[in-house]
Amino acid sequence: MESWELIVIGAGAAGLAAGIYGARSGLKTLVIDEKMAGGTAADAPIVENYPGFPHITGGELAQKMALHCKKAGANIHEIETVTALDLTSEQKIVKTTRREYEAKSLIIATGSHYREIGVKGEKEFRGRGVSYCGVCDGPFFKGKRVLVIGGGNSAATTTLYLSGIAAEVLMVHRRGAFRAEDALVKDVDSKENVQIFLNTEVREIKGNKLVSAVVLYDNKANATKEIAVDAVFVQIGEAPNSQIACEAGLEVNEHGYIKADVFQRTSVAGVYAAGDVTSHPAKQVGTAVGQGITAALEAYGYIRRPYYRR
Ligand code: NAP
Repeated sequence: MESWELIVIGAGAAGLAAGIYGARSGLKTLVIDEKMAGGTAADAPIVENYPGFPHITGGELAQKMALHCKKAGANIHEIETVTALDLTSEQKIVKTTRREYEAKSLIIATGSHYREIGVKGEKEFRGRGVSYCGVCDGPFFKGKRVLVIGGGNSAATTTLYLSGIAAEVLMVHRRGAFRAEDALVKDVDSKENVQIFLNTEVREIKGNKLVSAVVLYDNKANATKEIAVDAVFVQIGEAPNSQIACEAGLEVNEHGYIKADVFQRTSVAGVYAAGDVTSHPAKQVGTAVGQGITAALEAYGYIRRPYYRR
């Protein structure tokens, strides 16, 4: 069994920040991710609110963070899935699809996954016109008519990104007001090829082999209509990737987010949680980074017990 001082599970913004601080503190640090490093921030078409970067793509920002983490001295294992945790003894055991590790301390930064709207056609056409990532799939719909569902920052940034690729973008939100930041809403409003549908719900996604139409329900006018579209981008928020943590006995809140205090401590000593998997209300790259840093500093204190922490 391989031994590490600190294992960080998840290489998104929180995990990479934790990796940087863990390694720079001198801890033998491993960061593991089931995908490539970067997390969901890497899918963000545009990031304009991470201090120091007035305009950067999520992909570029994620790449810079991963490189920084490696340079700091952390090991990053990509495409390696954690299958189980054993947190019952002082040495924490991490089982993955490749091997088994032990560590003195763990930071869980497994992030979240895209939520589905749960309408007819969504599952059937996933990957055939239904997408959850504008950056990944937008370029397939150059010059086409696409639809974005949601009223938050993800829906707004995806709409902006797609407005530069597609001929026409329809943005559909179930309420009369957006949750997205004012600045983004203003940008969306200013795009000539964007059409906004408020108080509107997507009831069904239709097609043959590929998506060809949606059924829209206007919940104010109580009217239903079918509109031709080539793609549907679902941007309605996220749910936590906390299953492994739950199975290992970590406390989670009623929505499945891991409970962590201001020091990012979980219900098990030596185990910390950071980023979108936690119950912290602000799901931002900046807050994830801050939580990752706090978790790593706390893990350092827990492992090394320096004189100033005794
Ligand atoms: P969000 O802020 O939770 O917004 C989700 C949106 O989807 C809401 O408008 C919600 O409607 C709508 N929605 C939820 N369930 C729905 C359903 N079943 N059918 C139709 N609509 C539904 O999620 P998000 O936009 O993904 O953002 C998540 C977090 O990441 C936020 O904190 C956000 O600020 C952050 N983020 C930041 C950036 C950036 O700063 N560049 C980019 C992306 C995300 P209601 O409003 O009616 O509830």
